[in-house]
Amino acid sequence: MSLSISKLFSKKKSTTDSVAEIGLPTNVSHEFHVSKNAVTGQLEGLPDPWIRLLNEQISKLEQDQNPAAALQAIKFYNYSIKKKPQEEVFKPFVTEDLIEEESQEIDKILAKKKYQSGDSDGSTSVSSTDSQLQRLPDLPPKTYKPKLVPRKNIDRIEKTLTEILEDLNAYQIDDNRMPDEIHHPDDESPILRRKTECSVGKLSDEEVFEEIRRICHHGDPNKRFERSKEVGAGASGTVFIATDISNDQRVAIKDIDLSKQPKKELILTEIKVLKEFQHPNLVNFLDAYLLQEHLWVVMELLEGGPLTDVVTETVMKEAQIAAVCREVLKAISFLHARGIIHRDIKSDNVLLGMQGNVKVTDFGFCANIVGDEKRQTMVGTPYWMAPEVVTRKQYGKKVDIWSLGIMAIEMIEGEPPYLKEAPLRALYLIAAIGKPSIPRWDTLSPTLQDFLERCLAVEVDERATADELLAHPFLENCADLSTLTPLIRAAQRMLRKAF
Ligand code: ATP
Ligand code: MG
Repeated sequence: MSLSISKLFSKKKSTTDSVAEIGLPTNVSHEFHVSKNAVTGQLEGLPDPWIRLLNEQISKLEQDQNPAAALQAIKFYNYSIKKKPQEEVFKPFVTEDLIEEESQEIDKILAKKKYQSGDSDGSTSVSSTDSQLQRLPDLPPKTYKPKLVPRKNIDRIEKTLTEILEDLNAYQIDDNRMPDEIHHPDDESPILRRKTECSVGKLSDEEVFEEIRRICHHGDPNKRFERSKEVGAGASGTVFIATDISNDQRVAIKDIDLSKQPKKELILTEIKVLKEFQHPNLVNFLDAYLLQEHLWVVMELLEGGPLTDVVTETVMKEAQIAAVCREVLKAISFLHARGIIHRDIKSDNVLLGMQGNVKVTDFGFCANIVGDEKRQTMVGTPYWMAPEVVTRKQYGKKVDIWSLGIMAIEMIEGEPPYLKEAPLRALYLIAAIGKPSIPRWDTLSPTLQDFLERCLAVEVDERATADELLAHPFLENCADLSTLTPLIRAAQRMLRKAF
């Protein structure tokens, strides 16, 4: 996410082309004035590549109807694609503090404040001279450098469109900065980087390897595990199945080539913390080995594959949906109780055992690099994103509850809302529409409808907590988990997948 929300694009999606079309930097910094054309209703005064993209994906009418959502979507989108991907080697555990830092980071990366005395008109701006434009009143010139105020204190109050536009007008955006060419004018403090326990002290690669080796299992994993087939490759490395010869247990091992990872020290904390996290509804970490520069993360094997396969290939009954929700909620409740926000709850990250056990994965190790080019240009998975993430209001644990609601829609409809839309447009729709409409809504039981409403409340305070949902009447009628087995088998047959 980076917003280490992990990758933006679901692998089953094909609407990623638009990302490649985003104009690359022109190395021109400018201020801009955002305004709305009274005739066309379109937003103007944004950097050209932004305007092009907005016009491609969000109709004039929509821009006119909800300019705030359009602006928030484009801001968030640009933050996402500009984020230097190499920064995000391992997804750190997400806490509210981390989110706080990220919010500040977004502000700093996107918005180099340039309002100086006498410069309120933005002399180099892409300002509109068109008399038809509804220019917003200029803010009084600010002579001070804004201090980063913790968002906690400011963002409880929803901003009006005018305030958002004022904010934007005050920003100086280098609309074409290459991700790894972020420069810092002398008078500015460096862009905030995520602080982690381990990255504070500068360790050399050799020291990091030494430390990782110390906390990893000693000995040769090739003597303990008999490697069988590969099950797939993710952003951080490949996953293969192996058998632990000592007890005949089958395991999944993720092989991560650390030589390609610039921030190796992050994994130190991760390994330590993962060892502590054992829960029946999490894909548990079993061990770690270091072989030369390859880290092997040994995990429980979930032979039923991801829930995505079941939702796309089969039709689930409400009682089965309830059972999956209950299991995932138990995992979320466990993480939330420890101050961890998953931030990437979706069917791809819910793995199934052949007996129907349900486990959440990707709450720790997860990378945003070494994917294909498109994946590298963007971070985050928009379709499951809560509105407050897109609009960048203060957000916290409840984002996982929203994502669970979207995942419940996947179980009902086979896919999340807006999946067929391009990412920027999906962000716009999330910000503009809030609770998505569900085509099969009228066929759902009142308790499932209520459950969804509790998950998908746009107002964070009205959205339920994991523990509240665990007591929801919808979960009183859960099917036995073993009833998932036929669905898993059917999906595996359809997809010709089986371990
Ligand atoms: P990402 O990099 O976003 O995590 P990913 O989930 O596809 O992408 P990996 O986590 O590396 O990448 O997983 C690769 C494949 O291995 C996926 O198909 C995933 O479902 C499967 N997989 C991962 N962990 C396990 C596990 N413990 N048991 C069974 N399959 C697994
Ligand atoms: Mg994964």
